[in-house]
Amino acid sequence: VNFGDELVTREEKTRRVGGVFSSVASNYDLMNDLMSGGMHRLWKNRFVAKVKPRHGEAILDMAGGTGDIAFRMADRGARVTVSDINPDMLAVGMERAKARNIQGLTWQVENAEKLSFDDAIFDAYTIAFGIRNVTDIPAALREAHRVLKRGGRFYCLEFSTSEWPGFGELYDRYSEHLIPKIGKAVAKDEDSYRYLVESIRRFPRMDAFRAMIGEAGFKSTSVEPILGGLVAIHGGWKI
Ligand code: SAM
Repeated sequence: VNFGDELVTREEKTRRVGGVFSSVASNYDLMNDLMSGGMHRLWKNRFVAKVKPRHGEAILDMAGGTGDIAFRMADRGARVTVSDINPDMLAVGMERAKARNIQGLTWQVENAEKLSFDDAIFDAYTIAFGIRNVTDIPAALREAHRVLKRGGRFYCLEFSTSEWPGFGELYDRYSEHLIPKIGKAVAKDEDSYRYLVESIRRFPRMDAFRAMIGEAGFKSTSVEPILGGLVAIHGGWKI
């Protein structure tokens, strides 16, 4: 599999992705604001509006990192399990939750490819800016399907490819040159941010990813492009 420009084994990719997020954890929230000009907050608000978390629902926020999505869903009364492969990201999230006095969250280290949860226990599964880091994406989608109840919903927020003429190229140039520089200046870590840019570029286009969600068993799959598909919200139902 690819890691940046290198070919590495699956285990090695998973290990290195771990290294990237351990390295970025403490600066993660600041970097998101800097890199997206604050726009990631709007995308996350739109995403959660689409998920429509309800009071008392059990929701799994996979690759939940420092909790941005989980906090928004807990605000609406959902019982959210925040899972991530990286304990350093979760540790930052737990601190933030404590500082903001957010209730109703459970934190658990999990690999999206192989979850420890029983079948059919969640009303919704969310994954935001996480799936592109997963080594075996079809395995993660099958696991999402397995842990959802019948009638449960899957939603994914992820970078994709903008179909607006010229916009994709503009973004490529911005991300290739500027993001690693911001990473170097702020987080003293150019390589991790270079990997993050590369992982965005390699992620399947909107229709291809929608088809993968269908192959995992989800029905009524959907995609909502944001900024022409620079970012996309994919969805599907377990029926
Ligand atoms: N969802 C959060 C947000 O929107 O701010 C965090 C997104 S962050 C860019 C990606 C997260 O995916 C990291 O916290 C990383 O540790 C996690 N991750 C990467 N591979 C994973 C895997 N196989 N299973 C679970 N989490 C994974």
